[in-house]
Amino acid sequence: MSDQTHDTAAQTPDGYLRFLQQRRAEILGRVREAAARAGRSADEVGAIAVSKTVDVPAVRLAWQAGWHSFGENRPQELKRKVTGCAAYPEMADVRFHMIGNLQTNKINQVLESEPVLVHSVSSLHLAAAISKRADARGITVPALLEVNVSGEESKSGFSPDEARESVEDVLSLPGLDLRGLMTMAPAGDPDMARRTFSGLRELAEDLRMRTGLALDVLSCGMSDDFPIAVEEGSTLLRLGRVVFDPGHRLV
Ligand SMILES: *Cc1c(COP(=O)(O)O)cnc(C)c1O
Repeated sequence: MSDQTHDTAAQTPDGYLRFLQQRRAEILGRVREAAARAGRSADEVGAIAVSKTVDVPAVRLAWQAGWHSFGENRPQELKRKVTGCAAYPEMADVRFHMIGNLQTNKINQVLESEPVLVHSVSSLHLAAAISKRADARGITVPALLEVNVSGEESKSGFSPDEARESVEDVLSLPGLDLRGLMTMAPAGDPDMARRTFSGLRELAEDLRMRTGLALDVLSCGMSDDFPIAVEEGSTLLRLGRVVFDPGHRLV
């Protein structure tokens, strides 16, 4: 089948559902192969479908295809998707993660959406602001520290040294439950991606020794680098284009 036919088929809901199902099977196959190469069990590797570029009907089809956890990077879009999906009783088990940059004035909106995990706690200041608002609501927010492992200027997050220095302060904050670390690799450079993901894993090992906590969630790996992330220890992939976009090639 040519890409053209594929795209055309994807324009009907049935055709798109078939694409989503087939693509999901291919992705899970890649995850199994990468886990096997690294001597890991594929059961240790979770994945969320990043739905920021699609609308609620596509999320619903993805849910039918087997994706039950989704990621959004904007507070307002998160809320819109949560509300939209709540209209479908069969989707009662759908869950949303907050994965994007978070400004302190949007924290309450995010907390109202009850994300199962906030991946993007990128500074001590933000951690304290989330803690304050969560504590005021009497809730505890599961969260990851976003770490700029690669040191790119354009990326937000703790440097590995800042993460080491700040982890005890983060742990002392009420209303915040630190579960692990998140990172993004530079685009288009597989060797850098590998170093970024292994750096994240080593930092997590260091922080476990310092804190005695499990910190067992490593959120890393996107459409273009997820097999490398699996090889380097990721426990939670964040997959956008490869899940939803028929034009995106599987790596
Ligand atoms: C968009 C996004 C992703 C998914 O990116 P793809 O390359 O489309 O898989 C993952 N993480 C974050 C933080 C994102 O904003």
